[in-house]
Amino acid sequence: MTLPRIIAIDGPAASGKSTLGCKLAEYLGYLFFDTGIMYRAVTWAAIQQGLNLDDETAITALAERIQIDVLPPSLGDGRDYDVLVDGEDVTWPIRKVEIDANVSQVSAYRGVRLAMTQQQRRIGSRGKVVMVGRDIGTVVLPEADLKIFLTASASERARRRYEELLARGEPESYEQILEGLRRRDQIDSNREVAPLRKAEDAITIDSDGLTIDQVFEKARALTE
Ligand code: C5P
Repeated sequence: MTLPRIIAIDGPAASGKSTLGCKLAEYLGYLFFDTGIMYRAVTWAAIQQGLNLDDETAITALAERIQIDVLPPSLGDGRDYDVLVDGEDVTWPIRKVEIDANVSQVSAYRGVRLAMTQQQRRIGSRGKVVMVGRDIGTVVLPEADLKIFLTASASERARRRYEELLARGEPESYEQILEGLRRRDQIDSNREVAPLRKAEDAITIDSDGLTIDQVFEKARALTE
């Protein structure tokens, strides 16, 4: 039996990719890398610096300039890791609703994707990695030995996100969450560069009606 060296997990917003990826990486003793963090970090920095999000040139220059680090968790506040932008802890700020609402616009810019993809390839091609995103199996690591496309209905995904935000003390209406997810999927799936798409050789797992453990079990079986 040979374990897959590189595992790619793609899928729409809030389909449970990070939860699955994290568990799978822990089980295999692999590095877990959530690429959504990088696009969120660029979006956070752009808003922080007061940049016009329609200004592709300025946003691209920012993406090329900032340093994004992912480190072991320094606090026990529910985080799985620290995310730093130029040394500043942005682990929770990048999860805010304002970032959800703007990240798809920023991540559609060609130059932004180029800057992020180069770093992701460098990290991923070393192997022993579970990388999670939208274009990992298609563009970032097409050589991945195992590709999973994780889906769930929009209503199920919105319900999960609703509960997540509630638990974090940042409640939002279910309808607003559902609308936001649909909008994000729409932009992510229809952009010109590296759209959200299932790789031809990816295996789909539909997580509707499944518990986290059941999804993990299905994915784990694929590594054998
Ligand atoms: O996975 P997450 O919801 O954190 O991703 C946030 C956003 O980052 C996505 O909606 C998408 O616009 C962008 N993204 C991307 N390519 C990836 C990962 C995330 O375009 N590989």
